[in-house]
Amino acid sequence: MKKTVIRSGLESLYFSGLHHLMRPLVGGVGAILTLHHVRPARPDAFQPNRLLEITPEFLEELLCQIKSAHLDVISLDEMHRRFITGEFKRRFVCLTFDDGYKDLKLWAYPLLRKYEMPFAVYIATSFPDRLGELWWLALEAVIAQNSRIGALINGKEQFFPSATVAEKRELYDAFYGYLRSMKTEDQLRAAVRDLCARYRVDIVSFCRELCMDWQEIVALSADPLVTIGAHTVNHKMLKKVPDEAAARAEMQMSRSVLEAALGKRPDHLAYPVGDPTSAGPREFRIAAELGFKTAVTTRPGVLFKAHRDHLMALPRISINGEFQQQRYVKVLMSGAATAMWNGFRRVNAA
Ligand SMILES: [Zn+2]
Repeated sequence: MKKTVIRSGLESLYFSGLHHLMRPLVGGVGAILTLHHVRPARPDAFQPNRLLEITPEFLEELLCQIKSAHLDVISLDEMHRRFITGEFKRRFVCLTFDDGYKDLKLWAYPLLRKYEMPFAVYIATSFPDRLGELWWLALEAVIAQNSRIGALINGKEQFFPSATVAEKRELYDAFYGYLRSMKTEDQLRAAVRDLCARYRVDIVSFCRELCMDWQEIVALSADPLVTIGAHTVNHKMLKKVPDEAAARAEMQMSRSVLEAALGKRPDHLAYPVGDPTSAGPREFRIAAELGFKTAVTTRPGVLFKAHRDHLMALPRISINGEFQQQRYVKVLMSGAATAMWNGFRRVNAA
């Protein structure tokens, strides 16, 4: 439902040409794009996490479009420099990839090399350590592999049908929403571990299969085009970690582990999940206290000069795999759509 609204909203913005009219108002100085997986499309009907992946062809089109729009593609360090010096003569784009998947190396990296575009990769260090829980994929696997799911919901055993694709989709959305509504990340993880134990899904198998190992990350980081950023240790929604010291340790430890592995201290951070339920004022303050140069959220938006004072709460534009049409990206990058979502507030860092 929400997807349809977003899609038709983007369509009407695009076809009305409104984004052109709004560009001087909302266009800002630049944008940071968020990407996750880049890999060929798969035929499976049940792909609840498809929004997190785009095809190599779509990425190449996107890179060509950025090039022909004469936008500067710059590193996070250069973005930081421009904010500090106030040098905004040309609009810029930063490309960021979250989580460090193997498909980045396989499919995206050759294209980024071809177009000589710098990019950043945010690593949750438990992923190359092979201890990470990609719980959203574990949930997908449990539902994909079973036609009926039993789970303890609010302390009560309940059963749900998941035989058809429609049932699986509905159950995934409901379960995902239920998990995300939990007060703490520990509760969420316990519920997913319980589900994985019941249905014999190995929760750490996903980071083993999908995420780059340390050797691959070290090799990638040697390329001057690449910036490696921190993404915590365990990829927890930090706002759902009640103990401040534990939240701080997630950010600080991931930077230390990356520094030990790469011989270079990461200056940039991405909050896991990154929406307002995952990162808020406490997290922005801790990131500043730890001395990060920038920290990114997944709050949607383009960048304005005023973000100089909010470098620990930068918005990004997610390249959503459900909307692999260049015209959507154009509208998003014009800032028109995100300005509407944000009620025309330029900075949303509360
Ligand atoms: Zn992530």
